[in-house]
Amino acid sequence: MPNVPPGREKKYRPHPFSWVPAEGQRHASDDQRPAGGWPDDTEVTTLCSQQVRASTGDLAWLWPTCAACNTEARKLAGFPAADLR
Ligand SMILES: [Zn+2]
Repeated sequence: MPNVPPGREKKYRPHPFSWVPAEGQRHASDDQRPAGGWPDDTEVTTLCSQQVRASTGDLAWLWPTCAACNTEARKLAGFPAADLR
C-alpha cells in the first residue's frame, strides 16, 4: 500500500455514473445501474437532466456522446474543468 497522508488518500470507487445509450445519443446517468447493464427501454434520468429510455445493441454504443453528459461525467470523475473539451 502506498503511504498516503490521512485524509488525502484517494478512495477507490467506481465512477458514480454509467453510460447509457438512449434515443440516438450516449448519455451518462447516476441512476443505480442494474447488474448486467441497462435493459432495453429502461427509463433513466441522465446527467443532462432528461428522462430517456435505454437502448441496447452494438449500434447504440456507436451513437455520439451527449456533450452535456460528457461534461457532467468528467466533473464526477474528478477531472478539472480546464481539462474539459
Ligand atoms: Zn445527456
